Order: sequence, then C-alpha cells, then structure tokens
Amino acid sequence: MIIAIDGPAASGKGTLAKRLAQHYGLPHLDTGLLYRGVGRAVLDAGHDLSDEAAAREAASRLILEALEEDRLRGPEMGEAASVVAAYPAVRALLLDAQRRFAAQPGGAVLAGRDIGTVIAPGAECKIFVTASPEERARRRHAELNRRGDAVTYEAVLADIRRRDERDSGRGTAPLVAAPDARLLDTTSLDIEAAFQAALALAETARKTGL
Ligand code: C5P
Repeated sequence: MIIAIDGPAASGKGTLAKRLAQHYGLPHLDTGLLYRGVGRAVLDAGHDLSDEAAAREAASRLILEALEEDRLRGPEMGEAASVVAAYPAVRALLLDAQRRFAAQPGGAVLAGRDIGTVIAPGAECKIFVTASPEERARRRHAELNRRGDAVTYEAVLADIRRRDERDSGRGTAPLVAAPDARLLDTTSLDIEAAFQAALALAETARKTGL
C-alpha cells in the first residue's frame, strides 16, 4: 500500500507518516528533506537562493541516500527549501527518485506537499493533514524553544504564514489536497489522537484495497 501524507509546515504530517510507516513496516520518505538538501547545497556552494541555475545544478547532483537530516532541519532550511521548491526544473529533477521510492514492492509512506497530487496520484491512501496556522506556530515554537532556540512565537507564525503562501501560490505542484484525499485537521488533537485518526483512515483504505 502506498500512503501519501501531505499538508503544510508543522501540521504533524511528518510524525504521522513516520508512525504509520512503523505500524505497517513500510519504508518511509520525508520528501521535504530533498528540497532542504537542494537549498543547503545552493547555500554551501556560495550561491543565492534566487539563483535558479545553481538550484537546478544542486538538484541534479542530489543523492537521496546521502541526505544528512541533522544539517537540514531548522526553520532557515525550511525557508530555503520552499524557495528552491518553487522552481519547476528542480521539482522535475527530483520526481523520478520519489516515484521510484513510492513504487517499491509492498508499498511505502511518503510525506510532503504533492505526494497525492503528483508523485503518487494512484496511492491507495491519501491523507491531507491540516491545523490552524496559530496551532502550528505554537507547536513549532515550543519545539524550537525546547532545543534552546529563543525565537519568538510571532516570528514562527510569520514564517509559517509566508511558507504557506509560497507553497500554495506556486504554479508547479502547489500545496493542495488531492480531490480524493481524506482531510485530517489536527488543530485540537494531540499526537496520539491524530495518529489514531490517521490509522483509522489508512485501515479503511487498506481494507477497501484488499
Ligand atoms: O516538509 P518540510 O517543512 O521539510 O518542507 C520544506 C519545504 O519543501 C516546504 O515548505 C515546501 O516548499 C517544499 N516541499 C515541496 N514538496 C514536497 C515537500 C516539501 O515543495 N513534496
């Protein structure tokens, strides 16, 4: 079974995808890491994020297995990722690796923005995870503070709104729910309740597909 989990930043989709993958024993790919990897490589090479040719070059060299998650986490890389993710050529270069991952025998769980619409439109289970911008900012702010980052709640909320706008407004593969995706609003759910809700959706999809 292919499980496609899409949604905006800090909606909880990453955690849900990981837990569903664990539950079903499926391989898991957080596709945001690919765009973060491209953003990081552009900056490491001394280029500006507005340099589309540099982003294309970085995307063509990206090796999925070599992505170092520790260096790619954090809000700056999220912002950088969302800039390079708006370049159609960058998206095109990253398409095959994601589709191959999704097509593994037995299935896979992928999380991102365009999994249900572009990468795996035939996925048996599609979940679009949302939460209000304020709740997402509250979660992200708490997480960053726990890690010793003194960023303010207002700055985190502004970052989330900016990213939502860029991801939803771009021409290629914008952040949008697939018509056949099930919506999961996690605004008032803790992670355990959100996981149970996601699992119920996946179970329904699995049984329908049997
Ligand atoms: O999910 P994450 O916060 O790691 O994603 C970082 C950025 O990468 C997003 O804001 C989005 O612009 C981009 N992205 C994308 N398509 C995906 C996954 C991530 O455009 N499938």
